[in-house]
Amino acid sequence: PPEVVTFGETMAALRAHGALRLGGSLGLSVAGAESNVAIGLARLGHRVRWAGRVGADELGALVRRTLRAEGIDTGHAVTDDTGRPTGLLLTEPRLGTLTRVNYYRAGSAGSALSPADVLPALASGPRLLHLTGITPALSASAAETALAAVTAAGAADITVCLDVNYRSRLWTSDRARTALRPLLAHTDLLIASEDELPLMLERPAAGEAQAVHSILAAGVNEVVIKRGARGATAFTADGTTDCPAREVGAVDLVGAGDAFVAGYLSGRLDGADMPARLHRAVTTAAFAVATRGDWEGLPTRDELGLFDQPEGMTIR
Ligand code: ATP
Repeated sequence: PPEVVTFGETMAALRAHGALRLGGSLGLSVAGAESNVAIGLARLGHRVRWAGRVGADELGALVRRTLRAEGIDTGHAVTDDTGRPTGLLLTEPRLGTLTRVNYYRAGSAGSALSPADVLPALASGPRLLHLTGITPALSASAAETALAAVTAAGAADITVCLDVNYRSRLWTSDRARTALRPLLAHTDLLIASEDELPLMLERPAAGEAQAVHSILAAGVNEVVIKRGARGATAFTADGTTDCPAREVGAVDLVGAGDAFVAGYLSGRLDGADMPARLHRAVTTAAFAVATRGDWEGLPTRDELGLFDQPEGMTIR
């Protein structure tokens, strides 16, 4: 049985080498915040299950095949039989590490996710359930699924990890707050970017410390704030732990947050203390930042130590 269950929408991803409007060749891959985390965890040696809905089409087969090839249990993934297609996104590099993403996901199979698609995947009693704030933005049934899953996990003593992952293209901050706040009561571990914290609060806080305090007071055990190139901070009842980012040449920032989550959860599953969890998180994130693609460059467990090798070394 899996140690970790995650669910969400995974799409086909077409990556351009230059501006999309100029045409040219594209590379085909898959992308989804939760499946990025699943791949990261699987590469680090953890047993992971991904649940979700894909279209009865070739892109759905690509999603399934890719996740299976990464060693992820896709046995509970559902194929939509009502003609909804697998979602699609197109990316174009614009300026340095700035990438523009264009989505074709409205009405997709993944956005039609329902509680019955996900709840059976939790029945085997994993240690951890991971979800993101993207899912409740996709549709009313997907929002219902997120709430049903965290409620079921809470009742079964499964640790719930929520990455806020606010997507302004999908909904307003007010709608996000309304949908995400009820998840907090069932969340053990909240991961957010600095700017996402206010979404989890009923009223604006005076500052980050006060915001974190009120989230911990709401019953969340761990709050982890991602600070981009400045690293991350974890807050628990025991105190605060800061961790700088690893110095690395940034090539593609997309997926850094998901890689960070995979590293953090991996450390947590291994029983590592907070500094070691954050160290693994910033290390896996650095791999994502230093390589092209959302998940392709994520490290295996053996590769984690590569960062401690002298720069420019050739491994033979
Ligand atoms: P995204 O949603 O684009 O995946 P995010 O906003 O969720 O990202 P960030 O805070 O941007 O997450 O990045 C997550 C982690 O990635 C950071 O905590 C840090 O460890 C690492 N990281 C991000 N940018 C850099 C960088 N330029 N150099 C090294 N590490 C970085």
